[in-house]
Amino acid sequence: MAQFDPAAATAAYLAVLTPAQHAKAQAYTQGGHWLLLWGAIVAVVASWLVLRSGVLVRVRDGIEKGSPKPVRVAFAVLIVDAILEFILNLPWSAYSDWWRETAYGLTSRSFGGWLGEQLAAGLISAILFTLLLVGLYTLMRKAPKTWWLWGSGVVALFFVVVMILAPVFIMPLFNKYQPAPPGPVRDEVVAMAKTVGVPSDKIFIYDGSKQSNRYTANVAGLGSTSRIAMSDVMFKKDADIAEVRGVVGHEMGHYVHAHVFIFAALYALLALVGFFIIDRAFAPVARMLGAKDVRGLSDPAGFPILAILLTVLGLISTPIRVSITRIAEADADTFSLEHFNEPDGLAKALVKTIEYRAATPSKLEEVLFYDHPSVGSRVRKAMDWKAAQQKVDGVS
Ligand SMILES: [Zn+2]
Repeated sequence: MAQFDPAAATAAYLAVLTPAQHAKAQAYTQGGHWLLLWGAIVAVVASWLVLRSGVLVRVRDGIEKGSPKPVRVAFAVLIVDAILEFILNLPWSAYSDWWRETAYGLTSRSFGGWLGEQLAAGLISAILFTLLLVGLYTLMRKAPKTWWLWGSGVVALFFVVVMILAPVFIMPLFNKYQPAPPGPVRDEVVAMAKTVGVPSDKIFIYDGSKQSNRYTANVAGLGSTSRIAMSDVMFKKDADIAEVRGVVGHEMGHYVHAHVFIFAALYALLALVGFFIIDRAFAPVARMLGAKDVRGLSDPAGFPILAILLTVLGLISTPIRVSITRIAEADADTFSLEHFNEPDGLAKALVKTIEYRAATPSKLEEVLFYDHPSVGSRVRKAMDWKAAQQKVDGVS
């Protein structure tokens, strides 16, 4: 038998796109890196406009009427701010998230459909972030010297709660979830779950085919809410069981290795550093931006200044944040290969994403911007795994 060549096998998988299509994917991906910068600039300008308009100060004064009502003020100011910033950022979101995607042929959503989803997502994030921020403002008031320390713990807790609850309570708002139909696909996934200790009593199917023909899945929840959810694409008649196993095995890897909790700890650390910087930088930045009638960091009317600092810190920390997820993604791939041994199934699923993310970026580009390892390196890893398995089989 001819020697299996992992490099040639990887090249064969990547050849699902023509060189011209690869070039287009690269233009799309690299343009996307610049969008991070332009998007941050748009967000900073939007926050600055809200600050200079003085509207948040008027909302605060209107509610206080001489006596302090800090929690009520925080809620009102933050909700007004969220609405204003949503509207000011909308033209940019429409360009970067709908128009550009349409121009590249990557979405067929109508503008109305896109806008509806934006409004729903904006409403949910406004509610969640308002709750988080009201908590942070309370800390700033009660512990003005050490709020940044406690605040990072609050962020970690918030992250864990949202990550665990989102798939169970928020994702069903965008897709319809129901118990998976009995059959070979369901049986296979139940058997897989049992071998790696993932709860297997709740297997759901959602209408993922309305977003894409990719095999998507997630394993989420905690305790009694734990469940496996799979796109209906995986239940079609011609579904590829190897691909299902590769993808679901990857998702089980995230769950079994508790990536959510590792992310929470690392994000708490990032928040700690970021909040400390904000604590020190707020006053000088407020002066620089010409903020009027803002009483200090703990005054919600000064939230746009906080938002500007968060935007800048968020942009600067991009390489750290994407690297955290990229390492976890590589770990989930390894888990899938080691426990379910479907290198070709995994590779087939992976090459379906290379229109959206160029498959063979430079190492530097991957480190700075890629929140998943590049598909080129992921397929190569799967093929190297396959080659190593064949060697093992050869000697046994
Ligand atoms: Zn993953």
